[in-house]
Amino acid sequence: MGPLTLRDLAAIGVDRLKGVGEKKCAALKEMGVETVLDLLTTYPRRWVDRTDECRVSDLRAGQEALVLVTVRGVDKRIGRNRRSIVEAVVGDGSGRFHVVFFNQPWREKQLRDGLQVALFGKADVYRGGLQMTNPVVDLIGDRTGRIVPIYPQSEKTGLNTWEIAGWVEDALKRCEPRGIADPVPEAVRARLGLISRQEALHSIHLPETMGEKERARRRLAFDELLRVQTVLVMRKRALERESRGIRHTIDGELVPRLRAALPYQLTSAQERTIAEIEHDLAAPHPMHRLLQGDVGAGKTLVAVSALLTAVQGKHQGALMAPTEVLAEQHATGVRRLLEGVTVPDPGNLFGDRPLRVELLTNRVTGADRRDVLAGLADGSVDIAIGTHALIQEGVQFHSLGMVVVDEQHRFGVEQRAALRAKGDGDLVPDVLVMTATPIPRTAAMTVYGDLDVSVLDELPPGRTPIVTRLAEGELLQQGAWAAVRAEVAAGRQAFVVCPLIEESEKLEVASAQETYERLVHDELQGLRIALLHGKLPSAEKEAVMERFRRGDTDVLVATTVIEVGVDVPNATVMVIVDADRFGIAQLHQLRGRVGRGVHESQCWLLTGQALEGGAVNPRLQALVDSTDGFFLAEVDLDLRGEGTLMNTAQKGRSDLKLASLRRDRELVAHAREVAFEMVDPDPLLEGHPLLLDELRVVFNPEDEEFLFKN
Ligand code: ADP
Ligand code: MG
Repeated sequence: MGPLTLRDLAAIGVDRLKGVGEKKCAALKEMGVETVLDLLTTYPRRWVDRTDECRVSDLRAGQEALVLVTVRGVDKRIGRNRRSIVEAVVGDGSGRFHVVFFNQPWREKQLRDGLQVALFGKADVYRGGLQMTNPVVDLIGDRTGRIVPIYPQSEKTGLNTWEIAGWVEDALKRCEPRGIADPVPEAVRARLGLISRQEALHSIHLPETMGEKERARRRLAFDELLRVQTVLVMRKRALERESRGIRHTIDGELVPRLRAALPYQLTSAQERTIAEIEHDLAAPHPMHRLLQGDVGAGKTLVAVSALLTAVQGKHQGALMAPTEVLAEQHATGVRRLLEGVTVPDPGNLFGDRPLRVELLTNRVTGADRRDVLAGLADGSVDIAIGTHALIQEGVQFHSLGMVVVDEQHRFGVEQRAALRAKGDGDLVPDVLVMTATPIPRTAAMTVYGDLDVSVLDELPPGRTPIVTRLAEGELLQQGAWAAVRAEVAAGRQAFVVCPLIEESEKLEVASAQETYERLVHDELQGLRIALLHGKLPSAEKEAVMERFRRGDTDVLVATTVIEVGVDVPNATVMVIVDADRFGIAQLHQLRGRVGRGVHESQCWLLTGQALEGGAVNPRLQALVDSTDGFFLAEVDLDLRGEGTLMNTAQKGRSDLKLASLRRDRELVAHAREVAFEMVDPDPLLEGHPLLLDELRVVFNPEDEEFLFKN
């Protein structure tokens, strides 16, 4: 029998291990651990190095620290308000100190005399000595060795870190005779300086030094990333192989007409991106491309150019937005861009007919809807703009050739299937996904790893950078309103963005109403102010926007409906109320509504949030420090972690236990490179049966259908 594969390890129940009886088995199951594979990939959440970092004599008042100590005595009493207080004396060879637990009466039983524990917390001076209050406690038992692994343990399952460590050790020992198989080719390992999987699994659990642990982590993180990238790359290639696309006409008349009608020159980034897209469109397989660009980089024009490429070859284009409001705004923007662009029409005496752009959302009803649907079906609608309603059942296109999806979230497998069904026979439309906000490169490789990527990394010329200021508290906020008045006096206009209330649109509208009333009667009394929110009827929204665009209104008080698509170059100041309620990406997106003209613009971030010690909210500070969306995306990833990026849609990818899109940027890139190297000459991975097999073990059939075919 050869070395053990992940499939082999996944076939051995933990009950086979020494000391795992029925009760322990149930407790492990509660932690999600049923097989030896589960156990071996339950990695320590911390490693304590006995020889440094953890001596009592090194503790400093006011600093968080980890110490490894022995319990020297425990005492319980009832304090005021009948709160239980457990007090313990702990120490090592270098000194002793006190630990206090409030409202944790069970600590008395847990912390027996002589027990070794790792404590993590902040020591403070109390009655002349040091004391830690409610530290994190890890029981480490009687383990020897320099580095002590600390496993996730919970009161609920009652499993201790040393029990888990013991089972892991037993499991590793039993794997030794056969050894553990390695799916990564020797040459790749040598090139990237990766240790073997067997060594890595051993060292992550039982390292002799921290360096050894780090090398193990790097190898195992690489494996996680390689699995993800291999699936993405295989899916990408399978899609290219299996679907037939349209060979679009890229030397038609419409795109040149659009360009001739523009009052400006394209940026070189736009030129490059349009060329990349046209190259894909002319090819026989369907395009799957992500368009990333900072706010204001001019993505709309690139998208419209792609749609027109389809139209000039007698196909139709569709633009899909995540919400109705955004769809409506896109419709307005695209219509304006295409004003005056006509389509050659041999059936017409004058040779041309107007381009037909129609909106389709659930708000389009009755005769209007029937009219749009009929136009889509007979091909008289050239470009359809709408929500996901566009690809729902019952919507028939005459010949859908190009779809632009404008959203941050993943364009999922189901949508893709729905799209295919809209295509012309078995021809699959080309797809361009636009992200409203940039995401970091490594994250894009993972979240959008089956797409090609174009980046608009250049802003159109003539923009003056936006100056962003943070105003905390009443007094400074007066500065913001004064700035609005000053700009209006100088003939400019202002946006006021109302607090985001995620839980309820109704509350959000109410709060916008309130902000509006307050400004009208107080801070901005005398100015021409209008209110815009998502609950207004479309016609009224359009009227409000139109008045603001014409300059008949000075100040537009709005909810986040203005996040995308609103383009008023004369607006030079934006005030965002309760800015701390928004995320970095959203603030950056909002801020992009100003700074679109030649005048210097400013953005004020108001916050009532007072942080301890005068600290500044790091998200808001990042906005003050930089206007570069790609930089801000990196900061966002650092601050929030990848959890938010990898949400629900990435179920299959929750395999990332050790790898971090944040810390392991370089490793992500390597993994992608290796995945291409393996898949390109061997699309079905016949030469890498081990890797293929473990993809099937790790990913589930619903998510990765193609992996499980034959
Ligand atoms: P994005 O969607 O990338 O945030 P938009 O497509 O809304 O940006 O474009 C922002 C603004 O820049 C619009 O007013 C658009 O007309 C203008 N614009 C686009 N491309 C150029 C260019 N090459 N030169 C000057 N202005 C441009
Ligand atoms: Mg846009």
